[in-house]
Amino acid sequence: MRILLSNDDGYFAPGLAALAEGLGAIGSVTVVAPERDRSGASNSLTLDRPLMLSRAPNGFLYVNGTPTDCVHMAVTGLLDFEPDVIVSGINSGSNMGDDTLYSGTVAAATEGYLLGIPSIAVSLVGKEFRHFATAARVARELVERCARAPFGAPVLLNVNVPDVPYGDLTGMEVTRLGRRHKAQAVVPGKNPRGETVYWVGAAGPAREAGPGTDFNALERGAVSITPLQVDLTHGSQIPLVSGWLAQ
Ligand code: MN
Repeated sequence: MRILLSNDDGYFAPGLAALAEGLGAIGSVTVVAPERDRSGASNSLTLDRPLMLSRAPNGFLYVNGTPTDCVHMAVTGLLDFEPDVIVSGINSGSNMGDDTLYSGTVAAATEGYLLGIPSIAVSLVGKEFRHFATAARVARELVERCARAPFGAPVLLNVNVPDVPYGDLTGMEVTRLGRRHKAQAVVPGKNPRGETVYWVGAAGPAREAGPGTDFNALERGAVSITPLQVDLTHGSQIPLVSGWLAQ
């Protein structure tokens, strides 16, 4: 089994090392990851400059681009094989609800999915990130299951794992994305030249976190697995906009 790994935290991130170790036991692992932390990069492609590929001492390949660049490059020319599965992560931090729109972790997996390859984004939910091994074991079980029972179609799975010992997980649940409240306001400050600068504020707390959502599963100590799609068409508003246009 040939497994391509990427992430958005950078090729040096502990979550990526844990993932490579966990999945290295069941397949041949290739890593192509960003050279620096590109969290929040979403699905961006670098179109205004060339990309460079480098090799770290541990064999991981890294690119001076985005998570999407990494997977795009790897699959469309760099690798002389098509990966059987792509896994992105393990992200240091959750990617639930609205986070998925901004996430570079999810974006790397989305790129794999768009290129026709089953892809899984894995994130560790918590603040201290002590249990990457738990998320790596979950990733391994999902990849093993994909090999044993292929979906027969490209899938894009967004997986969030509680930061607890594996034995403390309360289960694995198939979920939908919840929703967050509006993000907190930008935080202004002064740079050393006395100019006003702004930091993007924190994401909002969970707003829609009822049964069936990713937030709800994590709240109860379970792993959430949300199948994602890319079509942004708001189908139920087609009649609304058609009526509006006909006025
Ligand atoms: Mn990240």
